[in-house]
Amino acid sequence: MQDTRYRIVIIGGGTAGWMTAAGLARQLPGADYSVTLVESDEIGTVGVGEATLPHIKLFNDMLGLDEAQFMRETRATFKLGIEFCDWDRPGDRYIHPFGAFGEPWGGVEFQNHWLRARASGRAGAPFEAYSYAVAAARANAFELPDENPKSIRSTYSYAYHFDAGLYAEFLRRWATARGITRIEGQVNAIDRDATSGAITQVTLKSGQSIPGDLFIDCTGFRSLLLAGQFDVGWEDWTSWLPCDRALAVPCAHGGDFTPYTRATARPAGWQWRIPLQHRIGNGYIFSSNFLSQEAAQETLLAHLDGAALAEPRLLRFSPGRRALSWRSNCVAIGLASGFLEPLESTSIYLIQAAVIDLINLMPTPRMAKDGIDPRLADEFNRLTVMQYERVRDFLVLHYIANRREGEPFWDYLRHMPIPDSLAHKLELFRARATAPNYQYGLFARDSWLSVLVGQGVMPEGYDRLADTFDLDMVAARLDDFAGRIGSGVAAMPSHADFIASYCAAEAVA
Ligand code: FAD
Repeated sequence: MQDTRYRIVIIGGGTAGWMTAAGLARQLPGADYSVTLVESDEIGTVGVGEATLPHIKLFNDMLGLDEAQFMRETRATFKLGIEFCDWDRPGDRYIHPFGAFGEPWGGVEFQNHWLRARASGRAGAPFEAYSYAVAAARANAFELPDENPKSIRSTYSYAYHFDAGLYAEFLRRWATARGITRIEGQVNAIDRDATSGAITQVTLKSGQSIPGDLFIDCTGFRSLLLAGQFDVGWEDWTSWLPCDRALAVPCAHGGDFTPYTRATARPAGWQWRIPLQHRIGNGYIFSSNFLSQEAAQETLLAHLDGAALAEPRLLRFSPGRRALSWRSNCVAIGLASGFLEPLESTSIYLIQAAVIDLINLMPTPRMAKDGIDPRLADEFNRLTVMQYERVRDFLVLHYIANRREGEPFWDYLRHMPIPDSLAHKLELFRARATAPNYQYGLFARDSWLSVLVGQGVMPEGYDRLADTFDLDMVAARLDDFAGRIGSGVAAMPSHADFIASYCAAEAVA
């Protein structure tokens, strides 16, 4: 019998390809849609991308994954945030936590109470002392948050560090067990309809043709379908984010088993440190205009916790995004649609957001005959642009607010013109301690506050409503909050102990 289902063809089996396949397998009715994924062992995947944001848990939960099993199989650890070292000035450090700072009261956001108390000499502790996630991270402690919203242990969330290759394999097993067809092979020809321009089929080196109604380009930086077939421009953001190279190297464990990623500023970029159960992922993201590969490699290898487990691998990239991510019947997801350096671990989040948006906007099977409603693509593109621009502004903030004077890379960043959208956010914060708080997309208010305050950007004013509260009461509430954090964290297990009892991978148990 002829298969009349709407045919979705995904090209690429990296994190983007398999997250897309798994999301579609979970959400689309198999009676109406068929999903085929083509991947090439010969080409391989980018092989990096190990730090995530808390949203990944929602994605895994949507699939119905068992957390402990997923963590065992991907050798994952927990992540409470990112520690930024030496970004403002050498010797400084702060954590961008996954969680709240303090608690609002009287309709006034917490930072205003803290700023007012500080202005009166009554804020007993720095801003980050009011974050449970920061305190737990600094103590190398971890436990699952409390679901009771009244508990102080409900004020944080968490993400994972995992082995990206193992995660893609895990999702591949999961998705193929749920009806996704996997084909191994390399696409070397793409046919399009002469009238509509829509892609009709791809042909592999082996000669096998795969026809489809909707094609998802997950081919990584190559962007074989979207950039290769359609005249879609590239919006380049190098002038704001000058880093264009990464050197990546895994190493053996040696230092602390931290429940957080570390990003340390270096002379022409920054170095990441991502602890997994069996090794630590490291890399130096740098600008080739300011530093040679040799010098970057020397710095990277001089700052490892343990012995390097492989030769450093060079990756080249350009920061920016495709002008459109959905054109005709082709949707690009992952590196095929854009790339922003992993300073805030946003790429996998951007994949997840695109998968969810695509599911919401999925063409109906009827559109195989009638053509795809262009409003679906327009909306997808609008949402994607918004996501990328918000992430871009947040990343740029880390660079511009530095006081590393006399270092050419950092001097350039401090003086460069910035996006208008970021300038507006900074002005509002400086004037009245107001930070963006997006309901859709990244980042929420506490994230902005952590980086703004962490980088030494302090507001000149605060919400005047804060002045209506009794100052003694405010100071007492601040002390009480910090005290409750201290006693809660003191009772937590260490990150290492929690992993050992909850999700230790066999080889490292
Ligand atoms: P790829 O992994 O490149 O996969 C492309 C797929 O397409 C492969 O399966 C390949 O075989 C296939 N393919 C290509 N051409 C063909 C063809 N002709 N025929 C058939 N198949 C084909 N993200 C985070 O969220 N956190 C991080 O910490 C992080 N760190 C990063 C560090 C660096 C240095 C870089 C460069 C990226 C990082 N990322 C991070 C981004 C993350 O790695 C990617 O977003 C993620 O891996 C998705 O990649 P992808 O699937 O789009 O592409």
